[in-house]
Amino acid sequence: MINLKFSGCTRCGYCKSRVYLNSEKISVCPVWQIKKLESYSPKGLLTLYDCIQSGSTDLKPSFDRFYSCTLCGNCIAMCPLNLDIPNIVLEMRKKYAAEYRKYPKLNKFILKYRILLNLWTKLNKFKNILFLTNPPDTTGCKVYIFFGCMSQIFFPKTCKRIKSIIFNAGLKAYFIEGMCCGGPLLLNGSLKYGMSYFFSLMKMFLKQDSKIYFVCPHCMEVFKIFKFNNKKSNDISKRIYHITQLYTEIIKKEGYKLDYGRVVYHDPCYMAKCGITKDPRNILKSIGINLIELPRTKSSTFCCGGSTRLIEKELSIEIRNERVREIKDCKADFVVTACPHCRRNFQEVDDIKVLDINDLVYYSLIGGEKCHSNRISLK
Ligand code: SF4
Ligand code: SF4
Repeated sequence: MINLKFSGCTRCGYCKSRVYLNSEKISVCPVWQIKKLESYSPKGLLTLYDCIQSGSTDLKPSFDRFYSCTLCGNCIAMCPLNLDIPNIVLEMRKKYAAEYRKYPKLNKFILKYRILLNLWTKLNKFKNILFLTNPPDTTGCKVYIFFGCMSQIFFPKTCKRIKSIIFNAGLKAYFIEGMCCGGPLLLNGSLKYGMSYFFSLMKMFLKQDSKIYFVCPHCMEVFKIFKFNNKKSNDISKRIYHITQLYTEIIKKEGYKLDYGRVVYHDPCYMAKCGITKDPRNILKSIGINLIELPRTKSSTFCCGGSTRLIEKELSIEIRNERVREIKDCKADFVVTACPHCRRNFQEVDDIKVLDINDLVYYSLIGGEKCHSNRISLK
């Protein structure tokens, strides 16, 4: 008999699938949709969790189940008890990572990421010394902009455009570059190594009461999840926003109207989980984008598979392909997203065209591709 007292799950199964438009049952959980095995579903994960906590099974055989979850949070909204399954998954990952040397797959991942992140941080420090960059002066800065490693490594042009948007709006901002939040390690359970990156940022954020805008929803998620029992650091979570929430304030002036045909907006799951679904749509509509909705949208979005890519790459690709199928069915000319992980994942597919919301805001406010020649009011 399984002990239910640990997770509280009643095994009702609402977190796996729901009835959809034409009465066809579709999956809430992207992993379950692909794997079709109970032990990969949210309900299955909680059964495993209860078994592990009660000592009736060992951690090792279910290792890949907990690492398959994308932490998208779709299951939370469907659960009548509002059980926070991603949090339980994270708890299990922390438990594994504490003994990571026993698990070759995780061991390899942690070592690879530590080497890469350290190299990247050192390279950026060296760049600052080489170009004689002065230590940052944050006095009077109303906002911090944190790019994150994914945007900076894979989309440096977009990072430059974000800076231009902020300068153009006349905002005194401090751009945090060359730093990682430790997310790739922390979200995979490695507190031991991920925390040092997280703490350096935390120290910086504690210096001033400025609002913190994240370009990457994954970094934003890290600062929402990892809190401390200390009032000052917990106050930081009230100052956390996604960059699109800053654009909503900036796009009040005139700009160029854009024409990209039929466009779908893919809600990054970490933004949808925080309820940030209106801001990106308002921005896109105000700059002239012809938006159409995907079947699984807003708070019921479907993950692109990006967050599980680091450890379960094949699964991540299968989840991505499922989302791509949905995008193609909409006969959209472009898919736009607000997350560098989704962008990179979608860009690998040849027959869909991907846009970044930051680039579109830049084209509209500053100029560039596909803008109409006349400037219009963006109110
Ligand atoms: S967080 Fe997402 S991937 Fe993980 S169990 Fe829930 S729905 Fe499935
Ligand atoms: S996690 Fe919630 S929705 Fe899923 S089976 Fe358990 S109680 Fe039901």
